[in-house]
Amino acid sequence: MKVGRTLSGLALLCLLSALLAGQTKEIPEWCRPLPRPEYKTLERVLPTEPWFEVYKVVPGVFAIYEPHQAEEVISYLIVGHKQALLFDTGMGMGDIRKITAKLTSRPVVVLNSHTHDDHVGDNWEFSFVYGMDTDFTRANAKGSREDAQAEVTPDQICGDLPKGFNAKTYATKPWKVSHFIHDGFKINLGGRTLEVLATPGHTPDAISLLDSANGLLFTGDTYYPAPIWLFRPETDLDAYVASVKRLAALAPQVKTVLGAHNIPVANPDVLPRLVVAIQTVREGKVPPGKSEDGKTLYTTDGITFLMKSGAVGIH
Ligand SMILES: [Zn+2]
Repeated sequence: MKVGRTLSGLALLCLLSALLAGQTKEIPEWCRPLPRPEYKTLERVLPTEPWFEVYKVVPGVFAIYEPHQAEEVISYLIVGHKQALLFDTGMGMGDIRKITAKLTSRPVVVLNSHTHDDHVGDNWEFSFVYGMDTDFTRANAKGSREDAQAEVTPDQICGDLPKGFNAKTYATKPWKVSHFIHDGFKINLGGRTLEVLATPGHTPDAISLLDSANGLLFTGDTYYPAPIWLFRPETDLDAYVASVKRLAALAPQVKTVLGAHNIPVANPDVLPRLVVAIQTVREGKVPPGKSEDGKTLYTTDGITFLMKSGAVGIH
């Protein structure tokens, strides 16, 4: 079982309490505190969409949030005068292309923060997809069923699935990379330029996206305000530390940090704190929190990492 990106995700506990409350349908614990209070101050658009919640977080940037699935993934549509860039395509459970078509009439190109299943679900729907030039990206572009299936167990879903969605056949569909890119690649959207920063660690193909003129840093799964997953076999902790140091050096020129799960906006002061937090955890100076399925939570200075049990304190 996969835990949601919340501190409390015990399916058994919620099943028990649902039974005690006399409910026939299990309500996963992670979805009970939703909506998250941080969203109250954000400008919501397309309010009648049933699966996606869309917010205009800063001028020309829309956060496309999927609160009905435990990943609570957030994709971003960044709009320029000539074209728009969709930074991640979400779970592929709803139809994110319909949403982007409602938000902009400009052509939309896709770039992924990394190619885990919850960020590439609707890549197949778009005709132009940038990809990092890594074997990990090439392997994931073939699609897969296993990770996708783990996302639709009852403990992962909060409320109704999208109309017409079939959990039994749900898989990440393959997509084609139109153009391979590297660190430092720049994309001109017309009046807005985005720079790709390779920030490997969470995955080998993890990137951040810098809009320096507007002080925006999109951090993907390298940073988001919820437990950061650093337990998968493709995660490289040394690379992660080097990447967060690189991002921390940018903090003075960043106004807003936009991560890929749970809450779309964070203060850039989190970037230097992230460096200290991961280093302190790796040095074994932070007492372990809850452990489950060979994974352990570590929290320090308000930042939480979900690590492979036994992976810290050995450096
Ligand atoms: Zn990921």
